[in-house]
Amino acid sequence: MQLRYSFRVYPSAGQRTALAGAFGCARVVYNDALRARETARSEGMPFPKTGDLSKQLITEAKNTPERAWLGEVSAVVLQQSLRDLDAAYRNFFDGLKGKRPRIGPPRYKSRKDTRQAVRFTANARWSITPGQKLRLPKIGDLKVKWSRSLPSTPSTVTVVKDAAGRYFASFVVETGPEEVLPQVAPEVGIDLGLGHFAVLSDGTKIDSPRFLRRAEKRLKKAQRSLSRKEKGSKNRDKARIRVARAHARVADARREFHHQLSTQLIRENQAVAVEDLAVKGLARTRLAKSIHDAGWSAFVSMLEYKAARYGRTFVKIGRFEPTSQVCSRCGVKDGPKPLHVRVWTCGACGAVLDRDINAAVNVAKAAGLAVSACGAQVRPGLVPAPRSEAGTHSTPKPSTAR
Ligand SMILES: [Zn+2]
Repeated sequence: MQLRYSFRVYPSAGQRTALAGAFGCARVVYNDALRARETARSEGMPFPKTGDLSKQLITEAKNTPERAWLGEVSAVVLQQSLRDLDAAYRNFFDGLKGKRPRIGPPRYKSRKDTRQAVRFTANARWSITPGQKLRLPKIGDLKVKWSRSLPSTPSTVTVVKDAAGRYFASFVVETGPEEVLPQVAPEVGIDLGLGHFAVLSDGTKIDSPRFLRRAEKRLKKAQRSLSRKEKGSKNRDKARIRVARAHARVADARREFHHQLSTQLIRENQAVAVEDLAVKGLARTRLAKSIHDAGWSAFVSMLEYKAARYGRTFVKIGRFEPTSQVCSRCGVKDGPKPLHVRVWTCGACGAVLDRDINAAVNVAKAAGLAVSACGAQVRPGLVPAPRSEAGTHSTPKPSTAR
C-alpha cells in the first residue's frame, strides 16, 4: 500500500527564494489552465485537453517575454500543477455525479493561500544525496530532519510551505507485507462522540490528551489577543503570525494524538469497527459537525491504513439502527433519547446502559465483531476496572478468513 511520510526541511535563504519562485510558477500555470478551461466552457467550446494545455501554457509560454521566467523552474513541477487541476476537476465532476461528496469547482490559487506546494516526480530526477540532503532540480540540496527512516525508496516528493512559514518534504512510499503483526484476540467497536474523543465497546473512554488541550488553549489565547489589536498596526501583523504558529501547533498535536491512539488500537485489537462518519454526521448540528468531523475523518483514515498495513480487520458500518436507541444486550429498540440522557435502564431486559459505551457495542455488533454487551452496562457505585482487566471480550472468534 502507499503511505505518506513527512519531514521538516530547512531551506537556506537562497533556496527559500527559489522555492517561492517554484510555488509562484506552479500557481501561474494552474491559474492559466483554469482560466483557459473556464473561458472555453463559457464560450461553449470543448473542454481543453491536458496535453494541449501543457504544450500551450508551459512549452510555448516559456518562449514569450511575459512567461519566460517559467523556464527557471523544473518543468515537472509545472506538469504536476496541471495534474492537480485535472484532479480538482475530476473530484468536482464525480461529486456532481454522486460518486463522492459534493465539492465546489476548482478555484484560482493565490499567493496568499496558507498552503503552498510543488511536487517532483521521478522524471524530475530529484534525489537524496549521500550526505542525506534532499536534492531538488533548480532549487539545490535541502537540509532535512529525518525523524524516522523511509521503508523504501519514494518515487515522488512534495515540498510544502504551511501557514506558519515552515517547510516540509512529503514522500509517497510503497510498503510491503513484512509488517503484518501477530494475531491477537480482542475486537473492538468505537463510538466517536462529543463528550469524549472516543468510547470503546470494552468500556474505555478516551479524551484528548493534555498536550493537545494545552495547545488548543494557547491558540484561543492568541486569537483573543489578535482580535484586540488595531487593524493595520504592526502589532496586529505579529499577532497574526502568532495565531498561525499556534494553529500549526494544534494541528501537529492533534495528528500526534491520532497517530498514537490509532497505532495503539490497531496493535491491541484484531478487528476494529467504526460508524461511517457520513451517516453519523446526519444526526448532529452543523456547528458540532464542523468542529469534529475534520479530526475524526483523519483519525478514521489512519485506523484504516494501519489496519491494512499491519494485517488487521477494519470495518466501517452504515447505520442500520440508531445506535443510541437500541439496547446492546437484548437488541430491543426503545426509541430516541434526548442528548442529556447519558444512562438509562432498558425497559425490556433491565440492563443499565451507558449511552456512549452502548453505542460502541452496537457498532461492534453491527460489524459482526465478537464483543459482549456487558461492557455497556453500568453498575453504580463500582469502580470501573482498567481496560486490561475488564473482562468484556467474549470468546474470540476463530480467526479464519480475515
Ligand atoms: Zn435490553
